[in-house]
Amino acid sequence: MIRLEAVRKQFGGFTAVERADLSIRRGEFFAMLGPSGCGKTTTLKMIAGFEQPTSGRVLLENVDVSRVPPYQRNVNTVFQQYALFPHMTVAENIAFGPRSKRVRRSVYLPQVREMLEVVRLSEFADRKPRQLSGGQQQRVALARALVNFPSALLLDEPLAALDLKLREAMQFELKRIQREVGITFVFVTHDQGEALTMSDRIAVMSQGVVEQVGTPEEIYNEPASLFVAGFIGSANLLPGRIAENSSEGSIVDLLAGPRVLAHGPEQMLVGSQVSVMLRPERLSLLPAAEAHQLQISGRGLEGTVRELVFQGASARILLQLPDGTRVVTNVATDADLPFLRPGDSVAMTWKPGAAYLISGWPEHAGANTTDVDSVEAAL
Ligand code: ATP
Repeated sequence: MIRLEAVRKQFGGFTAVERADLSIRRGEFFAMLGPSGCGKTTTLKMIAGFEQPTSGRVLLENVDVSRVPPYQRNVNTVFQQYALFPHMTVAENIAFGPRSKRVRRSVYLPQVREMLEVVRLSEFADRKPRQLSGGQQQRVALARALVNFPSALLLDEPLAALDLKLREAMQFELKRIQREVGITFVFVTHDQGEALTMSDRIAVMSQGVVEQVGTPEEIYNEPASLFVAGFIGSANLLPGRIAENSSEGSIVDLLAGPRVLAHGPEQMLVGSQVSVMLRPERLSLLPAAEAHQLQISGRGLEGTVRELVFQGASARILLQLPDGTRVVTNVATDADLPFLRPGDSVAMTWKPGAAYLISGWPEHAGANTTDVDSVEAAL
């Protein structure tokens, strides 16, 4: 449906998008995710036609549209500031597109009614935008774009102006609308939770480069780079070197000391610098006496409890490895927790397959600094 081929965008001497190669399927809910300034909006604007690539090609339905102006592309954009016409009613706002294309009234009126139903605003048809809540205005903006029956709807942080509760409600609403109309949605966000909740696939961008494209599960479980691992969810990244490759995976000598078994997307050369990623919820805690046995199997580490924060169903625990590396884990607050106190020695373990290999060494070994900070701030 949409294809970017080696797309690059420069503003003067500044490269906003270094290289984007993407294919977006028909009917897909596709998110472009990344921190502020990584080039997601610029990429979206090149799909919409508001920016032209410096090099590379943008294809819509297999046609090169790189030099085609926005109004001649069969896509519609909903921006963060959805700028409804204040003097028009909701219905008139939605009818604006078809009217300006001189579609006959008898044709567009039923379409407007249908769109009002899709966004669940039929009883608000005669209100003015200022008589609506933020979420309702957002839905008018969606209906106004959808009534043109674009083959893709491009959304630039459309929920950013809404408060948290409404944003969460609108995430489900958007997903429902997309399913109902079956149109391809391309959604720009810097919020990883939003991207994971709504998307069929996600492109993670950093500094103008598409780092990985995959389903939410793939991106979370098998991040292609240290950046992706750290940006999506919480990750403990333990640096080491490949000691040996076997049929079960790779044996890694951690800089922190122990040897662990991990697997990655491909075999990496013996001696190469790697990080072993352990997600906090995949770690379980056992009595310290079991640490030795676990270390022999390559699925365990020894540590000391530093802090413990109760969060209801689970607790976040900050642990320290013997070399000082800090690791965060989540533990269900049922059985084991009452026995844990700061200063206790414990063994951490994980199921086979939970330790994932990523090439390179992280800036900080162990838990993300933000995770450590959040545990300490909670105390
Ligand atoms: P945000 O989440 O903050 O909107 P983004 O990932 O969408 O970030 P872009 O808007 O694509 O980022 O911008 C990428 C980079 O390109 C930024 O450093 C920005 O300052 C720069 N940039 C964007 N538009 C222009 C422009 N018209 N002229 C010069 N630089 C620009």
